[in-house]
Amino acid sequence: MAEKATIGNVEITAVLDMVPPPREPSAMFPDVPASAWEPYQDTLENGMLQLYYGAFLVMSQGKTILVDTGMGPGPHPERGNLTGNLYQVVSDVLQPPDNTMNTNVSPSDQVNFVVHTHLHADHVGWNLRYSGGMPAPNFRRARYWIPKPDYDYFTEPERLEQTPYIQRQIIPLRRLRLQEIIEGPKAVTDEVSVLPAPGHTPGHQVVLIDSNGQKGAVVGDLLHSIAQVSEPTWCAGVDYDKSQSAASREKLLDQAEKEGWILAAGHFPPGKQVGKVVREGDKRRWQPL
Ligand SMILES: [Zn+2]
Repeated sequence: MAEKATIGNVEITAVLDMVPPPREPSAMFPDVPASAWEPYQDTLENGMLQLYYGAFLVMSQGKTILVDTGMGPGPHPERGNLTGNLYQVVSDVLQPPDNTMNTNVSPSDQVNFVVHTHLHADHVGWNLRYSGGMPAPNFRRARYWIPKPDYDYFTEPERLEQTPYIQRQIIPLRRLRLQEIIEGPKAVTDEVSVLPAPGHTPGHQVVLIDSNGQKGAVVGDLLHSIAQVSEPTWCAGVDYDKSQSAASREKLLDQAEKEGWILAAGHFPPGKQVGKVVREGDKRRWQPL
């Protein structure tokens, strides 16, 4: 069963793409000494940091928004040859109960927007499918929202050579007339919007929800580990600008704590991906819903 939560009139559903091989905490957070993990052993699995590659479906005012698209079908040699499953999971969630036999319609056609929090490989993998070398969108009725600073950064010629996934999953969107380059805050619906929260990448953004007096956010990679809710200065080694990343994280956690936001973090373990930030003494703590 997919994990669901409601924020006002907005419904969010966690959809998991794949579970990559676990890593040493120091491989993911090179600046955090092993001893600092002592109080957070319960966020590790047998001492190892286990990430999950999740995304979220957000339903608002009759629109279906997919926030990030996972690692993709694979197999991924750099991730233990594992394969992704997001397209099937999304299709299962969106499958209408009275499935008409119209083969021209697929559940994925219900997705109106694909919103990318940022352009790392584990967040864009199911944008396009290939047949005979030709790309076609997996979500053919959707507009794909891409933050401009990430688009500019990841498509610099020297960088593009090193990132075949950008060439396959992002570049063709333009010619297919599916891409929308986003600058600054922008509304998706009256109750869902994107807001820049840079640092992890130059254009990293979060998806804010504000509906019927309740607030929440899909946080993208502001959070990789539950321990970062208590230790917001901890930064992933892959963060583009660590001080900016920490500042964006602190700001969001502070607001979330004060206003009782519901947060959704795709890299957290299933069952713990959606939660609230609560205060415990001088630290915050993650409380799964
Ligand atoms: Zn990520």
